[in-house]
Amino acid sequence: CGVFGILAPEEDVAKLTYFGLYALQHRGQESAGIATFEGDRVHLHKEMGLVSQVFNEVILKNLPGNLAVGHTRYSTTGSSRVVNAQPAVVETRLGSLALAHNGNLVNTAVLREELLESNCNLVSTTDSELIAHAIAEEVNAGYDWLEGAIRAFHRCRGAFSLTIGTPVGIMGVRDPNGIRPLVIGTIDTGEDGRTKRYVLSSETCGLDIIGAEYLRDVEPGELVWITDAGLASFHWTQQPKRKLCIFEMIYFARPDSIMEGESLYSYRLRLGRHLAEESPIDADIVIGVPDSGIPAAIGYSQTSGIPYAEGLIKNRYVGRTFIQPTQKMRETGIRMKLNPLKDVLGGKRIVIVDDSIVRGTTSRKLVKALRDAGATEVHMRISSPPVTHPCFYGIDTDSQDQLIAATKSVAEIAKQIDVDSLAYLSREGMLKATGEDPQSFCSACFTGDYPISVPEPVKRSKLI
Ligand code: 5GP
Ligand code: SF4
Ligand code: MG
Repeated sequence: CGVFGILAPEEDVAKLTYFGLYALQHRGQESAGIATFEGDRVHLHKEMGLVSQVFNEVILKNLPGNLAVGHTRYSTTGSSRVVNAQPAVVETRLGSLALAHNGNLVNTAVLREELLESNCNLVSTTDSELIAHAIAEEVNAGYDWLEGAIRAFHRCRGAFSLTIGTPVGIMGVRDPNGIRPLVIGTIDTGEDGRTKRYVLSSETCGLDIIGAEYLRDVEPGELVWITDAGLASFHWTQQPKRKLCIFEMIYFARPDSIMEGESLYSYRLRLGRHLAEESPIDADIVIGVPDSGIPAAIGYSQTSGIPYAEGLIKNRYVGRTFIQPTQKMRETGIRMKLNPLKDVLGGKRIVIVDDSIVRGTTSRKLVKALRDAGATEVHMRISSPPVTHPCFYGIDTDSQDQLIAATKSVAEIAKQIDVDSLAYLSREGMLKATGEDPQSFCSACFTGDYPISVPEPVKRSKLI
């Protein structure tokens, strides 16, 4: 999911949030929503569909206010229905709160039980609504916004990057491991452009689009409280330990977003270079699977010296196939999405680079399409290691039995997707390319080493 937040009474906050969400569209394409606060009054619009389908000028006009939070969703818990769209708005004794969540809690069942016992009115089936209700419960017990929210966060286990609107300000929050990203930007507002305001966004691309400047990341275990008085920071947990999702860097986040001081494009280019060093092959051209495999393909080409070419043209208006819920839709999705260029591919030995193989359905179809287009050899190179374990922290990699590398060796996968050779990047290569401490990343979907312990029943639901 993508989350966004802004406080700027002198600006059209709904419109700025709309554009922020527009840039975060890749993080979720099922539903979108914006909540604005006009003093104590909250205005909310959320609907199934893309940001551009959910909003128009008239709807945005009906969302006046000083501050706004927004959300784009793809479901990892709760079904794909409008009641599960966000922001989740909940009433408290201090007024409404509107919460937008990216990530996944692992203690949903326990939290739900606790909240149901105290008679809370749950309308959706998402873990995100539970966080909102937990905050409301604490606030209604007499705590103020900050104390109440912090008490509620201590009841949550798992991944949560949040933007929360209240009548007095917005919060930006990350879980103690900072699994999902969240950044702070500043924007010059008002007629004279002299007023500095703060913006929250899942990724820096959400700042760029409204002309905001990247200030810094919200730290793991940090809460920032943005009000008319400015920004205040609270470290709400004793044990922050960064475990940023490495898949954000490899695949999920946009290549023009900045993480760790550089664009993810540069990181992905480096993954491709490492891949070429680890797994060279003799071939005529290197192509990438659009869009996510392209930077690594260029990196592979640079290091191997094999010319880079565009061999697959993508229909830019078809969403990421993995977001569509059924296998059947996924399979038709890929045909709608990529078209091979026969005159580029014909008679050539091809290296095709992609960022990941999850279920293997994309790869199998692509290889067939390349051969149909006249490729004489197809060598697949993957700029991440085999995905062997499901994610419990907010990336929808399905249950383990759906993951092709969970049960098959690389040789067996090569056979199944019908390539002449197949190689994945090593774990060391993936982590080394970050230039950071390998311990500061979650890479559980490649190792099964889950940094936040997952309760047994939850584990069993997804593990073979
Ligand atoms: P699959 O192997 O499941 O057919 O899909 C792999 C391809 O789709 C890659 O190109 C990758 O970019 C994208 N993809 C599909 N689903 C997922 C997912 O759940 N997680 C990640 N990281 N990538 C996915
Ligand atoms: Fe990211 Fe994989 Fe960890 Fe999930 S398990 S948070 S996808 S690295
Ligand atoms: Mg891809």
